[in-house]
Amino acid sequence: MARISYVNGRFLPHASASVHVEDRGYQFADGVYEVMAIRGGAPANEALHFARLERSLGALRIAAPMSPRALGLVIRELVRRNRLSDGIVYLQVTRGVAPRDHRFPDHVRPSLVLTARRARPPSPEAVDEGVAVIAIPDIRWGRCDVKAIALLPNALGKQQAWEAGAYEAWQIDDAGMVTEGTSTNAWIVTDAGEVVTHPADHAILDGVTRVRLIEIARAAGITVTQRPFSLEEAKAAPEAFLTSTTAAVLPVVQIDDSLVGAGWPGPVTRRLRDLYLVPAAAGPKE
Ligand code: PMP
Repeated sequence: MARISYVNGRFLPHASASVHVEDRGYQFADGVYEVMAIRGGAPANEALHFARLERSLGALRIAAPMSPRALGLVIRELVRRNRLSDGIVYLQVTRGVAPRDHRFPDHVRPSLVLTARRARPPSPEAVDEGVAVIAIPDIRWGRCDVKAIALLPNALGKQQAWEAGAYEAWQIDDAGMVTEGTSTNAWIVTDAGEVVTHPADHAILDGVTRVRLIEIARAAGITVTQRPFSLEEAKAAPEAFLTSTTAAVLPVVQIDDSLVGAGWPGPVTRRLRDLYLVPAAAGPKE
């Protein structure tokens, strides 16, 4: 079956789905995106994704291409046309097509592109045995809370991790604190069993998985503290993990050359992964 994508109002064969060379996303990375999980044919955590999209668009002063309701219908139609049950929808909004000039163009229409594909979750070994991360300097800009398509530092970091045989790179700010991964949020568990992750300020992307997991953990009686933690604290922690739409909750068992705890996924991480994935099995919450 041919894969179908959506470009500015039209459903097209994926192979011929394209935007203009003077789209400002292509020229300036002037746009934002979302990656949504599709579970049982429906988008998961749709309201959280739409709220974040609105915040990202607002930060860049890009007009919303359509209402959240209309966008929800487009997503469902794309999922239907691709006969997708479990997968990922990628959604991108750029400022639009205009002659190349750094200043915002007048009267430009934002470009909206959506693609869909089957899920590529981490391997069963990665889930069961945990993954390694490397530490790299955080060289990104000051508005990492905006889900901008400008992902060059993230791509360089992920490539560096891959070449080092690691799953992810944890980015370290000038104060020696772990901000987040290149496409995932970073977490540790303390000796007291408290779960710690960086606060949702301008230094990190407030992951939808992060938001949901904080709610789920607290509902289960687990203490969650949002505060920066250092690379040293992470290396000495009994457990560490990462979260994202595609990875859900994934144990981190090695940071650079240091094993985390016994080098094996810990009980709090495993419990959080189970708690996070249980509602999915019962169907989306919204
Ligand atoms: N941080 C960054 C930098 C990311 O790119 C992502 C994934 N888009 C995340 C965190 C995790 O966000 P989410 O849980 O919404 O997938």
